Amino acid sequence: ENCLKCKASDVKIPEITLAEYLVNNFSKYPNKIALECGATQRKYTYDDVLVKSTNLNRIKSTNLNRSLRKKLKLQKGDVVAFLLPNIPEFIISTLGVHLAGLKLTTINSAYTSDEIKRQLLDSGAKVLVTLPELWQNAKKAVDETKNSISIITIKNNNSDTTPIGAIDWSEFANTPTDIPDAELPSIHETIFMPYSSGTTGLPKGVELSNYNIVANIAQIHHPDYKVAQSATDTHQDVTVAILPFFHIYGFTTTISMMTDGAKAVSLPKFTPDGYMNSLRDYRPHILMLVPPIVIFLYSHPSVQAEYLSSLRIVNCGAAPLGALDEEKFRKKVGRPLNILQGYGLSETSPVVTMIPLSLQGKYPGSMGSAIPNTFLKVVNIDDTEGKHLPPHTTGELLIKGPQVMKGYYNQPEQTENSFLNGWFKSGDLVRYNEDGMLYIADRIKELIKVKGLQVPPAELEEIIRDYPGVAEAAVIGIPHKFHGEVPRAYVVVKENCKIDVDKLRTQVESKVAKHKRLEGGIVIVEEIPKNASGKIMRRKLKLKYLEENV
Ligand code: AMP
Repeated sequence: ENCLKCKASDVKIPEITLAEYLVNNFSKYPNKIALECGATQRKYTYDDVLVKSTNLNRIKSTNLNRSLRKKLKLQKGDVVAFLLPNIPEFIISTLGVHLAGLKLTTINSAYTSDEIKRQLLDSGAKVLVTLPELWQNAKKAVDETKNSISIITIKNNNSDTTPIGAIDWSEFANTPTDIPDAELPSIHETIFMPYSSGTTGLPKGVELSNYNIVANIAQIHHPDYKVAQSATDTHQDVTVAILPFFHIYGFTTTISMMTDGAKAVSLPKFTPDGYMNSLRDYRPHILMLVPPIVIFLYSHPSVQAEYLSSLRIVNCGAAPLGALDEEKFRKKVGRPLNILQGYGLSETSPVVTMIPLSLQGKYPGSMGSAIPNTFLKVVNIDDTEGKHLPPHTTGELLIKGPQVMKGYYNQPEQTENSFLNGWFKSGDLVRYNEDGMLYIADRIKELIKVKGLQVPPAELEEIIRDYPGVAEAAVIGIPHKFHGEVPRAYVVVKENCKIDVDKLRTQVESKVAKHKRLEGGIVIVEEIPKNASGKIMRRKLKLKYLEENV
């Protein structure tokens, strides 16, 4: 079939579960530090994460695995939700959950109780793992689901105490429990469910299988793309993990580097000083970034080039990084550096394209070309045949490969709509050049991305419509210098009603995480453009805004 392929040879995808894949690789580096909390300095060696054996029976984290099954009576396929910032125990617990044959869904730790409740209900989670400091939100959300959901809390600071009614993670995980090994899910069963709104509507559980994630790790381990060097007696790559583990980009790239024995210094939240200090203290070799952090690094006067003196490779994805930004960052570092832009989605585990190491710097502003085992097509938006367009023509990117999700959890219709003849429809507009290097042009899907995080307009519109006096609402993303985009609302007021815009704004703020706030403004309008079937034409609003303001 006429499409874009990777120039490099395919990789062989190991036919084992993610848990086994991690155990096999982690046990090569028993004495190396695997995870360190950049805020509290508590650390775990690979040997702490596993016992000195590749025998699944004797892995320490199987205590967590066994406790989940014996004490909480969880059965194969049950869902465990994490409401956690980046802490070492996130990764350890992931392994515990997967070794127990359970599924994991990850929730943004900045979410309000309304947002948490929604994901708990939708995923049918039976357990919520969180921190004492997030207890209030977590408990409120759990109570409101009216489901029986156990809450486990992890002490993240010395001063933390386990809230009454919660189970303490370390006691739970460290109590030996006598129960046979779990039956691991087959390689094509779902094990990980991040949430994404896809091309339209509310957030949905993205069903990723063992195979999807193991494949993506193997794909980015091709020598042309591999970022981490395997740890040796004298060298260990260090990364400062600031991208959230609850998002597929932070998750897959971190565990991928750990399969090479790298040390992941996790930061629970981004503060300019905290981030800068960890760069100064840990001198990372590899950084996984999103454009706002690249901009922070080159523009903040206190970030010293020497903090970046060990830096070898920077991966940037999740939102477009301009060629100029790439240039300014190189200048700040002041020496040759691999800046590899990549592109991906939650639905593709996530990596789809990346700049090969040998070509870095040659295609500024490009999101790279297809990684191994991946096929891409660029097609006209309304072409139901999916005919691949020639170079330099803008069209929707379609994706095929082992990293493409199984579908959306409990959403057969949405799943069907997101594929065209077996190709996954990205909802992104791209073009490519003669060398197969791709450039992002725009997004046709309604999704807004703020600081690389998802903001589904449908979610905000639902909240706004709920406000007294509102007849209709439409939300779009408008460009923002540092955040990429910010949401802006258009509101139609009911006849004979008045709306206090500030109160509406406050109401929205009480219901959503900070990055979803209406920083782009609220505009009262007479009507909202809709197509013949009544669908909001957000794109029309966006183009009008761009025409008038940019
Ligand atoms: P998520 O599922 O949250 O990872 O969001 C996926 C979306 O992020 C993609 O469909 C794109 O719209 C956007 N995205 C990811 N990587 C890039 C990139 N390198 N350049 C531009 N947009 C990107």
